[in-house]
Amino acid sequence: MSEDKVIVANKGMVRADFNFWVGQYLDKFFDNLENKKLVGNKCPKCGDVFVPPRKICGKCNVVIPLEENWVDLPETGTLTNYTITPYRVNDRTDRKAKDLLLGMIQIDGSNTAIVYKLLNLKPDEVKIGMKVKIEWAEKTKGDPSDIKGFVKM
Ligand SMILES: [Zn+2]
Repeated sequence: MSEDKVIVANKGMVRADFNFWVGQYLDKFFDNLENKKLVGNKCPKCGDVFVPPRKICGKCNVVIPLEENWVDLPETGTLTNYTITPYRVNDRTDRKAKDLLLGMIQIDGSNTAIVYKLLNLKPDEVKIGMKVKIEWAEKTKGDPSDIKGFVKM
């Protein structure tokens, strides 16, 4: 038993606007970012501090209560790793883009690293272990773009 099928293919980009809820922990994190404040949460058992906050400590496998263990963090951190890419993050075909520096930054007082652009730096000026500081977006809106990137201290 065979059935003829018509398959239609279309190459190209499709724009799809959508929203999704990030959950209670990230909701609180982004509310603080909107006010240019960085917060993390602390595991009640091992004391590790997470940025962004987590519901469960992966090391201890304990739930970190939502209403407790929040920690105010500074705008400063240490570059723990980085990469230089000629690709734009949202367009891998654009090789003419200026080199983009992406760094993993461990915020002072935390045990995890976040990934953001390194701003106002040339590739040969970037060194693992260098101290960096948040550059906030001029207008915040409660999402990851509230942090424009990190600059050398
Ligand atoms: Zn823990």
